[in-house]
Amino acid sequence: MHSNNQVTSKVMMKNRQQKPLVLIVDDEPNNLHILVEGLLSDYDVRIATGGAQALEFIEITRPDLILLDIMMPEMDGYEVCKILKSNQNTKGIPIIFVTAMTEEESEEHGFELGAIDYIHKPYKLSLVRARIRTHMTVQGMLDRLIEKNFDLHDKLLEIEILASELSKRDTELKKLTAKQELFYQALTSTADGVVITNNKGIIIAVNPSFCRITGFSENEALDTQLKKIKQNNLPEMNFDAIWQHASTAGYWSGELITRRKNGELYPELLTLSMVKNDIDTNVNFIGVFSDISSVKVTQERIDYLTWHDELTGFPNRNNFLKLLDQQLNQSYIDLNYAYIFIVDIDSFHSINDGLGLLAGDQVLQELAARIDSTLDSKDIVARLGSDEFAVLCATNKGTGRNRAQALANTKAQNLLIAASEPFTVDEEKVTLTVSIGCYIFPRMDVRENAIETIRNCEAACYKAKEKGGNRITFFDTSFGEQAKRRFEIEQDLRKAISQNELMLYLQSQYDSQHKLKGAEVLLRWEHSRKGFISPVEFIPIAEESDIIFDLDCWVTCRALELLVKLNQFNSKLGLSINISGRHFHENRFLNFVTKQIQSSKINPSTLTIEIIEGTLLNHMEAAIAAVHHLKKLGVRVSIDDFGTGYSSLTYLKQLPIHELKIDKSFVFEAPTNKNDKLIIDMIVSLGNLFDLKVVAEGVEGEEHFTMLQAYPNMILQGYHLHKPEPADSWFYSLTNPNAE
Ligand code: C2E
Ligand code: CA
Ligand code: CA
Repeated sequence: MHSNNQVTSKVMMKNRQQKPLVLIVDDEPNNLHILVEGLLSDYDVRIATGGAQALEFIEITRPDLILLDIMMPEMDGYEVCKILKSNQNTKGIPIIFVTAMTEEESEEHGFELGAIDYIHKPYKLSLVRARIRTHMTVQGMLDRLIEKNFDLHDKLLEIEILASELSKRDTELKKLTAKQELFYQALTSTADGVVITNNKGIIIAVNPSFCRITGFSENEALDTQLKKIKQNNLPEMNFDAIWQHASTAGYWSGELITRRKNGELYPELLTLSMVKNDIDTNVNFIGVFSDISSVKVTQERIDYLTWHDELTGFPNRNNFLKLLDQQLNQSYIDLNYAYIFIVDIDSFHSINDGLGLLAGDQVLQELAARIDSTLDSKDIVARLGSDEFAVLCATNKGTGRNRAQALANTKAQNLLIAASEPFTVDEEKVTLTVSIGCYIFPRMDVRENAIETIRNCEAACYKAKEKGGNRITFFDTSFGEQAKRRFEIEQDLRKAISQNELMLYLQSQYDSQHKLKGAEVLLRWEHSRKGFISPVEFIPIAEESDIIFDLDCWVTCRALELLVKLNQFNSKLGLSINISGRHFHENRFLNFVTKQIQSSKINPSTLTIEIIEGTLLNHMEAAIAAVHHLKKLGVRVSIDDFGTGYSSLTYLKQLPIHELKIDKSFVFEAPTNKNDKLIIDMIVSLGNLFDLKVVAEGVEGEEHFTMLQAYPNMILQGYHLHKPEPADSWFYSLTNPNAE
């Protein structure tokens, strides 16, 4: 290392050119005379007469050797020696003690301090000179050694620097090779074909994907003209033109229709780039290409599906809207009437639920074909959504409104008949009916677009359904408003739960002695803008979509919470909840209820699930299984609106139900209508026969109550006894009977 030490030693080397400098330190100059004279011929001799003076001198001029007297006043030789040896700059100066002492001890002390020799007074000049020479020589050798050492050090340093540079270059080289390796791997593993040619277009390298896509092996490809392998079969541009472009512009990129080795045509995306080599100004071309047949197919498929329904191959809603818009414009220009139908299967979900989605698909395909077969060739059928089809029928020029209506009616009748023929699915016969909405256009009062026209026709179809389905209904201007409200309710109902707009009301049930037996849980919806909406309006809408599932689950959870409270207060009272026949038999609902009941702390026999009779009949087998399942859970099952659904006795026998709930329409009329009273009698006998509880709802007036009290075991429910009230206040009255 370069240090102060080295600097001093370099300075020292320079002085060496002159005579070596010897400093004699002695307080008795008389003693020195002979000595000085004896040394002068070979050395530059300087004298100091005390320690302090010597140190002063040494600070300025570095002697090559010091002859140091030990016994001196003020500062003795040891002291001077100690100071010199403790200083980095002076510690290397050889010191010879000059002394009169002979004791070994003092000598040892001097050597310990770093002296190299002792000369005893009185001196023998020849001896002194010999010793000085020897020490000078030794010192000289030492100095040279040190010098060499430094040189070596410097060399070593240079080598180290060189070595580190070399290793740096080595890592860079390694990095470079790793990069090349990566590039190589990328080229060999990429799905894109890569080909490299010389400036004449002769192939000099290809990657494996090149071989895979083109069908040519590497050996076949090498040394071949690229042009031979890549011909463009598109009329717009041949490969020569492509090559020409790449040679002048430096690149070409585009789609080719080219052939594989086996002759098969395929589309490819090619980028051809010219690359110049820095070193030898060679020109190469690199072609990168991919087989885009599958992309093309996907794109064609996407294009197809944008306008067509996958299942039937008919135009889809977008396509139909486009065609209808054209027809609407034409009709306005020609002033002749045309019409559309909306055809919707009645309770299609029961086919899907009962037979499975695949069967549902088959029915849809078959129905689509039947609709098509009843129409004229220029009529257009489209599938708008799951089980909803639309038909657009143009008419001859000059067709008036009445004529259009008559034509539409005939065609729709044919459709209705075609749809009612049984379908064979998996060797099973399935019958279905459809509802058809008809709409004649153009309207002269307002100019409508395709979306509005379809919406009106859908409203007509919905009306047909409302009237029981299996029928044709022509649009009436009053339908539009209803359809709009229906649409809005459906939209808002989806948010009703999260927006806290739903709540539960309870309506008490009593025995004939007017003793409380429990209550029916009824759902209420307070719409943020429309105000109170009756379940009579929103439940059927919820049932059309899947919203009903969420609603019934929500009601079930809240009702179970109420029931926990009720069980604690009075273990004999129960609650009834209404569950839609749309899903009460489905596994997802049964699983949900099972989990809820098992995790809540209710007595299951205090919970009654009411299912409307008509909906039970739709899925007989599943319904029977579901009722068995609920019975196992310990829950009671009641048939609601009983008497409206044509239940047969055999069917009742199979259902392990607990309760029949007489429909309120019979109760309302019973005091004045003999037939209805008779029906009530029958239901009561039926109840006795099957050991079922009978509940009468719609006990609206005194007359109803009086009449029904004649049936001692009947449970009664109605406005006359109690009007549905919020669950909180119902509980409050129950637990505080004397409060007003
Ligand atoms: P429902 O199950 O037949 O319920 C009885 C309906 O009759 C209730 O109407 C009740 O308020 C009404 N009612 C009770 N006593 C009388 C009376 O003396 N006179 C008259 N005129 N009506 C009476 P609400 O609450 O409007 O419910 C209508 C229907 O909505 C229910 O008929 C039920 O089918 C359905 N519903 C209500 N809540 C739910 C629910 O949480 N889930 C399901 N799926 N449906 C529900
Ligand atoms: Ca009910
Ligand atoms: Ca009812």
